[in-house]
Amino acid sequence: MRIHSQGLFTLITKMLLPLSLLLSACSDPANNSATQNTNAAGPLFNAIIYEGARLIVGNGQVIENASFIVENGLFVAVGSTTAMTSAANAARVDLSGMTVMPGLIDTHVHLSTNRAALMDDLQNRARMGIVAAQSMGSDGPDTPIEIRDEIIPGAARYLTAGRGITSPEPGRSEVPHWVTTEEEARQAVRDEVARNVDLIKIWVDDRGGQYERLSPALYGAVIDEAHRNNLQVAAHIFRLEDAKGLLEAGIDIFAHGVRDQDIDDEFVEMVLARPNVVLIPNLPYRGVPTDLTWLSESMTMEAAEGLLLANIERPEVQEAFGIQARNLARLSEAGMTIAMGTDGNSYWGPHIEMEDMVASGMSPAEVIIAATNNSAELLGFEELGAVEAGKSADFIVLAANPLDDISNTRRIVDVYLRGENVPR
Ligand SMILES: [Zn+2]
Repeated sequence: MRIHSQGLFTLITKMLLPLSLLLSACSDPANNSATQNTNAAGPLFNAIIYEGARLIVGNGQVIENASFIVENGLFVAVGSTTAMTSAANAARVDLSGMTVMPGLIDTHVHLSTNRAALMDDLQNRARMGIVAAQSMGSDGPDTPIEIRDEIIPGAARYLTAGRGITSPEPGRSEVPHWVTTEEEARQAVRDEVARNVDLIKIWVDDRGGQYERLSPALYGAVIDEAHRNNLQVAAHIFRLEDAKGLLEAGIDIFAHGVRDQDIDDEFVEMVLARPNVVLIPNLPYRGVPTDLTWLSESMTMEAAEGLLLANIERPEVQEAFGIQARNLARLSEAGMTIAMGTDGNSYWGPHIEMEDMVASGMSPAEVIIAATNNSAELLGFEELGAVEAGKSADFIVLAANPLDDISNTRRIVDVYLRGENVPR
């Protein structure tokens, strides 16, 4: 059921009865369970008003001094604190001085493929405020993709493209389907459809001339077969030429931006003629040293060694970043829908990616919309992407405002998944 914001006041009135049954108020966000009414005579209620925070809704709207009510894992009312005081009897959590935003969604990752490690991946993400992640094509037949259909407390939701599809790339991963004929391409799609995957992933990249890349005839067959089965197709790309061919063939999602050159007017026009196509920019390293001390809270410095080694001035990397950054800025400005994805398996990645997106020229507000609302829509999570009545209470409490400085998304005080505080 979706509850729209126009119904806010009716909703509060309707809620007065259950809220009045609450036993006690509780101001400790880590101790929500104390507010449950276990009175045998009545139903179980678990409503909490979070009040006083600056609220970044996720759709572009910001409410200063906001309040929202969470009950049974859902936002049931969202508005300004003054409008909300009528629901007097709920337990209260004071969030004044804090900023609240929706949980982040990473639309392009490659997660572990055994159950224990995958659970770790999803729990690590939840701790960093990432409430859903989509694995893009590296999940072989033994991957426990049924995890997607489980509700795992304190873990991000999971979607998967199963095994992606590419032309033969000996020496690289053998997990993807290697196809050389249209029939093989279609059969690969049907195999993944039979596994009940969430989308189809293809790679169209000659890897610097090493391989023959997936031809237009083959990716055309994949896209056609996927669409016949109501699945979208996401393409790993490198060249502008392939990006244009894929648009002509009906591609739904670019899992990377164009990386070989600056895009041209023709490409922008092609994109604008296809308003449903989404870009996951998936930016590379910027090639400039950045502050990584914030990571010391979530990983040992030993584990961060690789990151630190790469955290130096690298002109050739800056050049590669520049192409993708200019392309992203141009497409975002032109009105293309931008989502957020990080590639690889870095649970902290979204906080770096969002900084890189801002460095490209998008505003912090635009980047937050991309990483919440747009990414939720892309993945089909109607219950995610915004702090709105009727949606799942998946939100991040921050000590500082990311609209002022996007790196403030790292200043996490608390993460809530389905209304439950995630142990951090
Ligand atoms: Zn990838």
